[in-house]
Amino acid sequence: MLDVCLLGTSGMLPLPGRWLTSMMTRYNGSSLLIDCGEGTQIAIKEKGWSYNPIDIICFTHYHADHISGLPGLLLTIGNSERTAPLTLIGPKGLQRVVNSLRVIAPELPFEIKCIELTEPQVHFSINGYEIDAFKVNHTVACYGYTINIPRIGKFDPVKARELEIPVHYWNKLQHGEEVVIDDKTYTSDMVMGGARKGIKVTYCTDTRPVPSIVKNAQNSDLFICEGMYGENDKDNKAREYKHMTFREAAKLAKEANVERMWLTHYSPSLVRPWDYVDSIKNIFPNVIAAKDKQSIELNFEDD
Ligand SMILES: [Zn+2]
Ligand SMILES: [Zn+2]
Repeated sequence: MLDVCLLGTSGMLPLPGRWLTSMMTRYNGSSLLIDCGEGTQIAIKEKGWSYNPIDIICFTHYHADHISGLPGLLLTIGNSERTAPLTLIGPKGLQRVVNSLRVIAPELPFEIKCIELTEPQVHFSINGYEIDAFKVNHTVACYGYTINIPRIGKFDPVKARELEIPVHYWNKLQHGEEVVIDDKTYTSDMVMGGARKGIKVTYCTDTRPVPSIVKNAQNSDLFICEGMYGENDKDNKAREYKHMTFREAAKLAKEANVERMWLTHYSPSLVRPWDYVDSIKNIFPNVIAAKDKQSIELNFEDD
């Protein structure tokens, strides 16, 4: 089970009742955060989720609305008696940006590991999260993220019996280990079916619509995408500031064949984003203008 919460939905600046765009997930005791603008730690507190299990923080880019909340959050995590290292992932320059912000948060009880993205597509496996970072197109270097929770195939007892593998070895094989019986080696692929559908979430903000988004978001259970502008006459603005309209986001969702889309990162001028959602449902129907702390529990499909 993967818990997902879109902590805030604002772009550029936090507003009363609308924190900056940021997503948090919880899986198997380990939490992951993407983006941390001003006030993100308050949004986490309002949601009632804890700071201590945050093991990974990914940054899309270094505009203030996506990172200026970091020093405060680090201090708060420090106060939660965390000692395990924290991994930060972001575009080139991460170490420099983090060092600057840490002038006001120099002493922390845990180590910080910075991983800078230098290639257009990078994969990480951390704490059961399979993370793909992919380059998008904004006014500065910017990445989208896909979080995958893979699911192994189903154990086949009929095959195991056919191979005459004693029952007390089954558990090892189910966990990917090899078993040697009478000089014969048995591997887990001999008794496990193919990998089953896992859980996939894609988070993408501050970008023009580009093919890397469609490619990476393919078949996501949840696609969180920026919609800076809801109005149809804002196409030029979206192009100029390298953002997206609701309509452009809907086209991406359709092309990527996602299950559902949540729009976020609204312009402060977009007071009632939900008023513009109906106008794009002809392109992609399963869409909402997400509200702060919108959350969902995503589970593996029944067999
Ligand atoms: Zn932004
Ligand atoms: Zn930006």
